[in-house]
Amino acid sequence: MNEIILCKYGEIVLKGANRNYFESLLIKELRGRMALYGKCEVNCSQSTATVTPGDGFDLEGAFEEAKRVFGLVGVSRALRVGKNLEEIGRGLREWIPGQIRGARTFKVEAKRSDKTFPLDSPALCEVCGRLILEAVPSLRVDVHHPDVVVRIEIRDTAAYIHAGQDKGAGGMPLGSNGRGLLLLSGGIDSPVAGYMMAKRGVRVEALHFESFPYTSELAREKVITLARELTPYTGDLSLHIISVTKIQEALNASCEEDYFTLLLRRFMMRLAVMAADRFRCRALITGESLGQVASQTMEAISVTDPVADRPVFRPCIGMDKEEIITISRSIGTFETSIEPYEDCCTVFTPRHPRTRPELEKVLRQEEKVDWEGLTREAFETLNTVSIRRSVL
Ligand code: ATP
Ligand code: MG
Repeated sequence: MNEIILCKYGEIVLKGANRNYFESLLIKELRGRMALYGKCEVNCSQSTATVTPGDGFDLEGAFEEAKRVFGLVGVSRALRVGKNLEEIGRGLREWIPGQIRGARTFKVEAKRSDKTFPLDSPALCEVCGRLILEAVPSLRVDVHHPDVVVRIEIRDTAAYIHAGQDKGAGGMPLGSNGRGLLLLSGGIDSPVAGYMMAKRGVRVEALHFESFPYTSELAREKVITLARELTPYTGDLSLHIISVTKIQEALNASCEEDYFTLLLRRFMMRLAVMAADRFRCRALITGESLGQVASQTMEAISVTDPVADRPVFRPCIGMDKEEIITISRSIGTFETSIEPYEDCCTVFTPRHPRTRPELEKVLRQEEKVDWEGLTREAFETLNTVSIRRSVL
């Protein structure tokens, strides 16, 4: 039997004149991902991509992988047959029963985009419904609330039969919305933020700040693991690491404790802008959520935002922690995120951080250190870990 994977496009079908551009990115990504599961052919036509297995192809694994490809809204396993009733009938008798096991009711939907096919859609539905009832006599037809919908599509080169469609990842094809630099801490929120922007088609690079020896080797390993856990969604990922140890020591020596976190965050933003320049990222991405902690109040964000000369995307800004955790669990980063290693933000933490800082006062504190020199020096510590895409 000629079993394939059918992938339905999402919102790129609405893309008028630019549609080919989006489609070619999507197909390139899908080809790369499917190749991880063996030899296969990936083609597209009529807002659908088809994956046709070659010898030894892991269809099961590839099917799960296809559900993680951004830009697809539905993925189904389907049978590809010739455009004649004989082959369609054989498929319905021999393949469909295994696909709809457990269902008690069904209905058939037929779509005939090839209008030269002799039966119109209602007639095809009727014929196919009868064939399925013959093959599985215990089934009943229920056109309103069926347990399963069997679909027959008569397309330009072949007919496809499938029963049930799994939800695709949605979003836009990777790379269709520029490059963004994700500020990746070891926490729960920033990996989710990276995932959410990758879903909107942003090619993500990651930047992590460490404060060795105040933060440990294990804390660094944890962030590398988190970055690796993002690669099933982002593809290969570069993780840049910058040490802010000297900055934190300088702040600790010269500035008022209440301002430490805010000052550090302004340094982080400046360094992120420099890294974004070097790695050609047009936007920064953070996991901030309004009001979650002192440094994420509207006033605090107003103090850190102005140092960025480009958009800062904060996809979690309007989300509750619980909502962020739900995504974190579903993408598989949660268990790593909750491992108890320190972050540089938790080193030299003020006892009473400012929640309503005034920019004037922050600037006065900042002037107490050589912020330009410290920033330049910290940037020189940048090193990069290249992380290859891993398969879930
Ligand atoms: P998260 O789960 O993302 O760590 P959080 O609630 O701990 O969130 P903060 O520590 O205030 O939040 O950090 C807010 C955002 O700043 C993070 O989501 C992340 O984007 C960035 N950030 C914080 N610490 C670091 C770090 N050590 N390296 C890189 N980015 C960081
Ligand atoms: Mg954090």
